[in-house]
Amino acid sequence: MALIVQKYGGTSVADAERIKHVARRIARTREAGNEVVVVVSAMGDTTDDLIKLAQQICDKPDSRELDVLLSTGEIVASTLVTMALHGMDYPAISLSGAQAGIQTDSSYSRARILKVESQRVKSELDKGNIVIVAGFQGITNGMDVTTLGRGGSDTTAVALAASLGAGVCQRYTDTEGIYTADPRVVPEARRLPEIGYDEMLELATYGNKVIHPRAVELGELYNVPILVASSFTDRPGTLIHGGPFMEVRNKARSVAYDLDVAKITVVGVPDRPGIAAAIFEALARAGVSVDTIVQNASINNITDLSFTVAKSQLAKAMEVVRPIAKTIGARECTSDDKLGKVSIIGAGMQNTPGYAARMFGTLSEKGINIELITTSEIRITCIIEEAKVKDAVLALHRAFELEKED
Ligand code: ASP
Ligand code: MG
Repeated sequence: MALIVQKYGGTSVADAERIKHVARRIARTREAGNEVVVVVSAMGDTTDDLIKLAQQICDKPDSRELDVLLSTGEIVASTLVTMALHGMDYPAISLSGAQAGIQTDSSYSRARILKVESQRVKSELDKGNIVIVAGFQGITNGMDVTTLGRGGSDTTAVALAASLGAGVCQRYTDTEGIYTADPRVVPEARRLPEIGYDEMLELATYGNKVIHPRAVELGELYNVPILVASSFTDRPGTLIHGGPFMEVRNKARSVAYDLDVAKITVVGVPDRPGIAAAIFEALARAGVSVDTIVQNASINNITDLSFTVAKSQLAKAMEVVRPIAKTIGARECTSDDKLGKVSIIGAGMQNTPGYAARMFGTLSEKGINIELITTSEIRITCIIEEAKVKDAVLALHRAFELEKED
């Protein structure tokens, strides 16, 4: 008997009908002769609604109380899925994150899983139960409930799959897999049958919100293949795994975009040691996460320093940087919050010349100005005007012939 871990997202369990539909899918997996562990997210917008409710009660809800409150969303969903299975005469039991042995550190609202003590889950499986685990939550050493950060049920599922030695973690939502680009922007975008962990990690980090990057990281670390598929159809989805990849592939795999980009430039910075440290240490202390950083070559010992942050963090970042810029004698501090990112990603681009040139050429043909460029071994990212991002995604998808089968 194979052990399968499945995870169903919030839209898949949004109401009673959908919960019954999910229960039928779980039953089918069981009927195929598998042991099944299921992780669920909270129904629909429950988590958002609970956050709003807490904010109506008090301006700054206590982080411990807030985590307990938010954890209830997944508990509701897990019990209802279990009841739906009982209604179909399947043996099933729901477990909270704590009962399932998800042990975390004590950073409320963004706790990290330290280990999974999976004896309880195993003993329920041994009794013949389908086990339905509330995602997104764990428990500290001191028995306090924590949550894993928004979208954290994916992480619960992969962590459970790793600790139980499951052959696969099947993650079901309302999307049919990973595409060569967002199909809402590029109609000819194609579902990828498979993708590597590293490629998926870059995609998830650079704008494809289909799966949480932490879940992909965990999958890679413990070598758990993750199937991303829809709970509403029976289409095959995309398998995220570590290879080997059989086909000779188009070296670019997918185009990602992100519209949440703001840029700060410190103009006329004296070029001497310690300046970058002063700026970025202060930003880190203020909890601003900085993305792309570019420093120009200096002329007469004066340089410009640019970096990007999420739009929501721009005001805070400017507050931190302005006084430092003044102290170090920089000329001025400018910002632009109408930017976006486009990236092409593919493991095969490594060691293959010409990808960057093709990307820049395609953008220039469209009259799109590149503000900043960053690369990794398997990614090229350009920061451009926000209003041009969708045109850029379409043009790049065509230029790299991503609509064609491998
Ligand atoms: N319910 C949580 C959220 O909305 C966790 C999850 O859905 O994975 O972020
Ligand atoms: Mg949710």
